[in-house]
Amino acid sequence: MKIGFIGLGNMGGGMAANLVKAGHKVTAFDLSGEALARAGAAGCEAVSEVEQAVLGQEAVVTMLPAGKHVRQVYANHVIMAGSPGTLVLDCSTIDLNTATDIADMANAKKMLPVDAPVSGGIAAANGGTLTFMVGGSEEAFKRAEPILSDMGKAVIHAGGNGAGQAAKICNNMLLGSTMAATCETFKLAEKIGLDLKTFYDISSQASGQSWSMTSYCPVPGVGPQSPADNGYEGGFAAALMLKDMRLALDAARSVKAEVPMGERAEQLYSAFVEADSQGLDFSGIITAMDSISAA
Ligand code: NAD
Repeated sequence: MKIGFIGLGNMGGGMAANLVKAGHKVTAFDLSGEALARAGAAGCEAVSEVEQAVLGQEAVVTMLPAGKHVRQVYANHVIMAGSPGTLVLDCSTIDLNTATDIADMANAKKMLPVDAPVSGGIAAANGGTLTFMVGGSEEAFKRAEPILSDMGKAVIHAGGNGAGQAAKICNNMLLGSTMAATCETFKLAEKIGLDLKTFYDISSQASGQSWSMTSYCPVPGVGPQSPADNGYEGGFAAALMLKDMRLALDAARSVKAEVPMGERAEQLYSAFVEADSQGLDFSGIITAMDSISAA
């Protein structure tokens, strides 16, 4: 297929390269010359005007930092230069209002919009093993699924437009909350004299276990390899976790949902990100748990 790809950063670069590997003709645009050059080296046609990544394309993928970037690119370029019938896939993690607004704009032009945010970090983007949570009509999903499958290991239809973003921010609020809870629990276990490897062996097979413990343990040397074993470098930056938790709290406020655990976890991540000059992985919050909790 002829696919336009806008936003070739940490995630988009690997995703666009995987579309090329799957045999698509990918026309790529980014504001960054460096990102564009990397996409060119990966086999994309790198273009200097965003419209070139939209005009005449059968599908257009965006992977941009936040809602304001996506709204600007859709309002000024994708909607203007795209044609009826074009499949438009936004894979960025953004707020629900922007997700539904851009879908409305695209639907009004008889395009086929899906929101398709991802779970999985840079390694999964490079390796083509992302999980996509997709919001959109049955018809749009049916057309989006094979393209997304070329970049991921799982593609799940969450519901109508916006449902993919809703699933993503609910998932990440839960992830941030379980990680904060796992970190404070390991700190407590240490202070009351438990050996942490022994506690991991027990709790990872008992009712306290979660993905934050068993797949991404914040304590080095006790579980499978995780960023904790690498000085909390790589992985999923705490600042991105904070962004996602704030999107979830905004959504909660908009529907007057009570999310006290999510709110507390957001406060902890906010304090951690402010104090963390190194841009550590989100499990690195364990290193600051005592100081930020007391603040
Ligand atoms: P990034 O900052 O590395 O890449 C974003 C790219 O978009 C940059 O190359 C930037 O130059 C480009 N860009 C910004 N504005 C643009 C515009 N108007 N036109 C064209 N290009 C523009 O970010 P990332 O880590 O690749 O994340 C992208 C999205 O994926 C975010 O919404 C993020 O929350 C989400 N996400 C990231 C991860 C992760 O581990 N990095 C994991 C899951 C989801």
